[in-house]
Parts: sequence; structure tokens; C-alpha cells
Amino acid sequence: MAEITRISSKLPKSEVSIFTVMSKMAVDHNAINLSQGFPNFETDKELKNLVTQAMKEGYNQYPPANGVHELRQEISKKIEGLSGVAYDPVSEVTVTSGATEALFCAISAFVEKGDEVIVFKPAYDTYEPTILLNGGKPVQIQLKGKEYKIDWEEVKEAITSRTKMLIINTPHNPTGTILSEADMKELESLLQGTDILLLSDEVYEHLIFDGEEHQSASKFPKLAERAIVCSSFGKTFHNTGWKTGYCVAPEPLMKEIRKIHELTTFSVNHPMQRAYAEYLKNPEHYLQLAHFYQQKRDFFLDLIRDSKFSFTPSKGTYFQLLNFEKITTENDVIFAERLVKKHNLASIPVSVFNIDRKDHHQLRFCFAKTGDTLKKAAEILCSF
Ligand code: PMP
Ligand code: GLN
Repeated sequence: MAEITRISSKLPKSEVSIFTVMSKMAVDHNAINLSQGFPNFETDKELKNLVTQAMKEGYNQYPPANGVHELRQEISKKIEGLSGVAYDPVSEVTVTSGATEALFCAISAFVEKGDEVIVFKPAYDTYEPTILLNGGKPVQIQLKGKEYKIDWEEVKEAITSRTKMLIINTPHNPTGTILSEADMKELESLLQGTDILLLSDEVYEHLIFDGEEHQSASKFPKLAERAIVCSSFGKTFHNTGWKTGYCVAPEPLMKEIRKIHELTTFSVNHPMQRAYAEYLKNPEHYLQLAHFYQQKRDFFLDLIRDSKFSFTPSKGTYFQLLNFEKITTENDVIFAERLVKKHNLASIPVSVFNIDRKDHHQLRFCFAKTGDTLKKAAEILCSF
């Protein structure tokens, strides 16, 4: 075969995602996998039956490009119930192939060459490559201290005439922190009078602990008018492999996002959409998740309380950061590798999400696992 000698990469600095790397290592070393964020327990049987039923009923061809109407209606009702704001299912809700696609479409629809996009670090790994792919420039702002707080003065200073978008993520991956109502109000006043768009990644919206309330951008009218809010059924309903999510935004913004959505996937798997539409009719299915995951967090943390790892309990998501500085001075990538290869426990080194890959001796562990798996993982952690 003739060899192509000159290939110019559009993303020369991008590497294989850490999630792929660590999950592969977990398989190769027959390790307990608390790295990539997915549950190791089954999704609800009722939901699986609804998918089977939809397939049997013949919902096996392309659904409408923007999503099955009944599902868009249920998404709109869910948001209205939680945030008190009504998105029009026809023009303001789009079902996507996971939140990943929603984020990609939202950035690609608006970010042009030379545009700046404010990103808080540590940040989920798809934001910056997507900005770069569109010719934009990520403007990184470090979250501060152990609580990973936003310094709003710093944000104010980072805003320029080229700022096109600002990306927030609450509850936050990888740190497990959340934005408060006061944070959202700061953001509201900062963005008022500008044309800056807000991309709000809320895939862990239902996984929030200790009685805290999720502060969705949709709840704040002055934010909602400029916000694209993304969420993930995979994260919410324990079926990340079904790759179904959605985004909501005011109609003029959604119109542009849909142009990109049509080019990336056109439409999203049909039977799953039918099933989610039915399943969402019972709000208990998502309202009980905070309690469910808080119990898992507490179970895991109680088991490792006397270990050498230190931590601040996660406030949301299904991730827990553990600090290992009392154990070793190794870099987090090296320690994560040793942990999986020698001790058979896979985690995610947090430095990959940080500015200049700065290492703070922290690993991220996913606690969306059965009690048995968490116990085995805790035994390994306590052996240090
Ligand atoms: N944003 C964040 C913060 C995530 O952790 C993930 C991973 N689930 C996504 C977006 C992508 O979600 P999905 O799996 O629905 O594509
Ligand atoms: N969001 C998941 C995590 O943070 C992984 C998603 C992926 O594998 N791309 O672990």
C-alpha cells in the first residue's frame, strides 16, 4: 500500500484519553477498576424492558434528528420541575449521543478562529481539544485551594473583547466540588451586558450530597438566556454505554447547535429514547440518586478513614479525590501506574486535567461500584 508521508495533525498535542489508558491497564492487570467513571452494577431492569419493548414495537429506524418528541417533552418537564424554567421541547431541547456530543456541538457551533473560551482547571478532557479544533483559544483559570473555588476577580480580569464562551461544570469532575448559589450570582453579574455564552456541563446534576442543591444555570434567568446546559442519561441512569444525553438552550442558540448535531450524528439511537421517555415519567428514578450515591461515598470513605490517604468528602459526582502525599513523593501518573500494576487497583491521576499537568499528589477514584468492589479497593488502599 502506498504510504502517505505528510500528515498534518489538527490536534498534535492530543493523546489517547486517560480513561482509555487506565481502563485498558485495569483489564491487562486484572485490576479493580475505579478509574473511568462508570458503574459496575446493572441499570434498572424496568428501563431495559422498556428498551426491549420499544425494539419489539418497531422503533428501529431513524428517530427525528433532534430527538423523539415524547422524550424532549419529558426532559422539558423534568427541568421545569427542578429549575422552574420551561424549555420548548420543539425548539429548545436536543437529544445527543451522550453529553460528549452536546459539548462538541455547543463549542463547534459558536467558537471561531481567535475566540477565547474560559475554562476552569482541572477540567474535563474534551473541552480544550474541541476549542482548539475550532481555532479557538482556551483561557485556563485554576480553581483555588482544597475546595477548588473559583476566584471571580480572576475571571473578571480574564474576560476580553475576544471572550466568546465560558465553561462551567457542576458537580465537578474530577474534584467532586459544586458551585454555590453565590457563585452563580457572581457569574450572572459578571456576564450581564456581554455577549459571552455559557456552556454548563451538568452531567452529574442528580449526584449531589449532604443536602446541597444543584445550582443549574437554567435556574438563573440572566444565565439561562445565554446558557447551553448539557446532561447525560448514561451518568444518571447507570448506562454510560447507551451514549444518550441532551442539551437545552434558548431557541436562537439551539438553532445553531442543531446544524452541527445534524453533521455529527444526525440522530440518536431510537429505542433508548423511547425507553427514557417512559422512565422519566417517574421523578423518583432520578430524585433517589443523591441518597443512593451518598451512601456509596460514605461506605467507601468509612473504610479508608484510617488509611494514609487523606481526603475532603466529595460534594457531588461519583468521584472521590484521595491525596497520597503521606505515602510517596512519586508523581501521580507514576503512582497510579504502580497502583494498578503492582496492587491491582486502577484510578485516574488528576494531573492530566491540570494546567501544565501540575501534580498535587491526588488520584481520582470512582465509587459507582458495588459494596463488594469498594471493600476490595479499600483493602488495597489500607495496605499502604
Ligand atoms: N462531562 C463530564 C464532566 C463527564 O464526566 C462526562 C463523562 N460522562 C461527560 C461530560 C460525557 O458524558 P457522556 O458519557 O454522556 O458522553
Ligand atoms: N466521564 C468519564 C470519566 O470522567 C469517562 C468518559 C470517557 O471515558 N470518555 O471518567
